[in-house]
Amino acid sequence: HAKAQGRSGISIYTQNMQQETQDKLNLYNDLHQAIQQQAFTLVFQPQLNQRGEVTGAEVLCRWNNRGTPVSPDVFIRAAEETRLILPLGQWILTESCRVLKRWRQENRLPDSFRRLAVNISPAQFMDDNFEHYVTAQVNSHSLCSAQLELEITESIFLGDKNIIRSKMERLSSLGFTFALDDFGTGYSSLSYLQHLPLHKLKIDRSFVMDIEDDSKPARIVDSIIQMGQNLGMEIIAEGVEYDAQRMYLQNHGCYEYQGYLFSRPLTEDEFIEFVRQNEPPSTH
Ligand code: C2E
Ligand code: MG
Ligand code: MG
Ligand code: MG
Repeated sequence: HAKAQGRSGISIYTQNMQQETQDKLNLYNDLHQAIQQQAFTLVFQPQLNQRGEVTGAEVLCRWNNRGTPVSPDVFIRAAEETRLILPLGQWILTESCRVLKRWRQENRLPDSFRRLAVNISPAQFMDDNFEHYVTAQVNSHSLCSAQLELEITESIFLGDKNIIRSKMERLSSLGFTFALDDFGTGYSSLSYLQHLPLHKLKIDRSFVMDIEDDSKPARIVDSIIQMGQNLGMEIIAEGVEYDAQRMYLQNHGCYEYQGYLFSRPLTEDEFIEFVRQNEPPSTH
């Protein structure tokens, strides 16, 4: 009896593997088509300061495949595996610039608004065409480079250090700023922090999630804030869901926040409405 189970166990396993491979191929195909048809949308999650003013937004990509939303964790990874992230990343940059230009032209943004943060995948950053593309898009939309913040993760540092550094230095001398996303979850060396032009640290949601007074995550958050401050960097916390978390962050020196406590990611028009509602009552 045990033997039969074992045998059928194996065959179920192979079937599962075949199914997984097939699912993956289907996903790649759908993704390829979706890129050709530009079937993606962007949403914008507000970032706020201590006074509750909107200081920026993070651009997040969305995809409904045959009517079903696919998590960005799934389709961005698939895009990275197939290098489809290059055309997708270009579309995201162009579209981000278009939206920012529209908001600016229509005078929708408050004085506190500084920049739009765009996630950049390692393969996209390492692509030879990246500098040219991002610069061309900013110029052709009459924006200035300081209005874009490029969010990179620590996984980028697995690449060639010299190439990465010189690329980042060229881009930052042009006025682009860099935020280090999901900080604390990736590559373990901190030495790159002193060598690279990083403008901002983004404290990962996993630490923010577990903040309670005197918890280990809370102490890690303290240390990240301290270190960022010592290095002259700005600090933002992601995934802030509760006022207690915001209070803790504020009391420990982090004055910029993003998370469901303030807003989920919003469409282009919803974002404008959020900004409008968020304005302090006029004083005339
Ligand atoms: P990320 O860059 O760390 O983005 C933050 C994620 O946290 C987003 O998930 C956002 O919707 C979610 N989030 C924000 N506030 C809260 C909160 O208070 N609570 C909780 N539970 N979650 C919150 P999303 O949109 O599913 O994106 C997941 C990841 O996919 C992103 O992580 C990023 O790595 C990647 N991604 C999304 N859009 C793009 C894109 O346009 N380009 C690239 N290269 N990657 C992207
Ligand atoms: Mg991000
Ligand atoms: Mg993040
Ligand atoms: Mg994250």
